[in-house]
Amino acid sequence: MFTAATFAELTALLGPERVRADADTLSLYARDETPRSCTPQAVLFPRSHEEVVAIVQRANAHDFPLVARGAGSGNVGGAMPVPGGVVLSFECMNAILEFDAGNRLVVVQPGVVTDDIDRLARGAGLMYAPDPGSGAYSRIGGNLATNAAGPRCVKYGATRDHVLGLRAVSGDGRELRLGSRTSKYATAYDLARLLVGSEGTLALITEATLRLIPAPETVATLRVCYASNAGACAAVRRVMQQPVVPSALEFMDRRAIDVLTLYGGEQVVNAGLPAGTQAVLMVEADGARDDVPRQIAALEKVLVGEGMLEILAGFTAADIARLWAARKSLSMAVKQIAPLKINEDVVVPISQLASLVQAIDSLGHAHAVPIVSFGHAGNGNLHVNIMVHPDDAAEIERARACHDALVETVLALGGSLSGEHGIGSEKRRYVAREIDAGTLAMLHDVKRLFDPMGILNPGKKLPD
Ligand SMILES: Cc1cc2nc3c(=O)[nH]c(=O)nc-3n(C[C@H](O)[C@H](O)[C@H](O)COP(=O)(O)OP(=O)(O)OC[C@H]3O[C@@H](n4cnc5c(N)ncnc54)[C@H](O)[C@@H]3O)c2cc1C
Repeated sequence: MFTAATFAELTALLGPERVRADADTLSLYARDETPRSCTPQAVLFPRSHEEVVAIVQRANAHDFPLVARGAGSGNVGGAMPVPGGVVLSFECMNAILEFDAGNRLVVVQPGVVTDDIDRLARGAGLMYAPDPGSGAYSRIGGNLATNAAGPRCVKYGATRDHVLGLRAVSGDGRELRLGSRTSKYATAYDLARLLVGSEGTLALITEATLRLIPAPETVATLRVCYASNAGACAAVRRVMQQPVVPSALEFMDRRAIDVLTLYGGEQVVNAGLPAGTQAVLMVEADGARDDVPRQIAALEKVLVGEGMLEILAGFTAADIARLWAARKSLSMAVKQIAPLKINEDVVVPISQLASLVQAIDSLGHAHAVPIVSFGHAGNGNLHVNIMVHPDDAAEIERARACHDALVETVLALGGSLSGEHGIGSEKRRYVAREIDAGTLAMLHDVKRLFDPMGILNPGKKLPD
């Protein structure tokens, strides 16, 4: 239990500036992007791996939960405190420890902001490929713990595909050095990949060695408008069945276009979507300067098909920005429909994308709730936003039923509960629908091995 004596012990360890229990700090760290909160006992700001080890040892000795936190941008309660728990924020562990361009790697502490890694790499003609939409503020520790991806992941893979090694502290305070600095590695069990996506429930990541890749010389964009969701989904399938892998393949559904038309403002007017547009694909190609036009031509060929209304290409920064304008204004425009969005990040096999989009349309009608969908079509990963007014109890009830039916639909289509934010506290109740009892029992065994006292992010990821 966390007591005044524990607080004093931790203050002696970290100093008063980095052990906070004042009302403002507690309120700031009581939530992530989930619309729920839980006030922590204290917030700790370690600066080193050794301090994290010492904190975990205290948590075991005094039996209080620890919730790791990056920037708190997750929306499933992953970084939301738990009752009686303490938040361990990695904000002060934000150093880039090594940048080795020759070996195409970077060694970072978990509090480094994602985009800073990419910026550093670009200076040497390299890039850090994972590009979650939160990259300007989310921390690499949070990205690792949720296996974050982004538009580029259709071509380059998610965070897990860019990890060479990790340093971490297990729930029982053991130091773990996992993986290596080499691009090939076959020595130990691959526990680094196990920790990626484990949402702070197995170990606390204190250092990461990340793979960098050559940056493309240039990028070009296509904006393709279709007369129906089905036409756009069929085009996605055609794109993914030919050899040119796009570096982004993003989708906006009919409702998203309605929202943009109503609330997108000047950005959308200037973007000039043709009349009758019901779905839009944003497609990118990147690579060598003399190869990108060839890729764009190949993509254009398969994007043209039934229901296509218009295809526009952008090869300069200004043209590309203009083509993306409608997509970029969507998140703000969606908020105009209703103040609260129940935001799902489900994923299905590409071949089932059309069925999912159609099912979402039917679910919205059946439960009388507006649903706006958009996302990373190239991975079958959609943001399904059920828009609600939090004060309307009947609407909330319908939205819950709709959410439940959506989960069933996704699983029936061979999909998965989360393609982005993970499970956290908010989606645990669905996990047993996707993962069979035998496998779940093994996952609990793994959890016990890493964290025998159950102090790391209890009540998250796995169902009880
Ligand atoms: C606007 C927006 C756009 C997004 N777009 C995408 C997208 O395109 N693709 C995608 O995949 N995701 C996307 N996301 C989700 C995004 O990937 C996550 O929100 C982000 O990775 C979490 O990072 P964070 O630093 O905010 O972590 P937090 O939200 O603070 O924490 C997330 C989880 O990681 C754990 N954690 C944090 N640090 C550590 C550590 N050092 N060791 C162990 N566990 C730790 C926490 O306990 C928690 O369970 C988006 C999010 C937003 C807000």
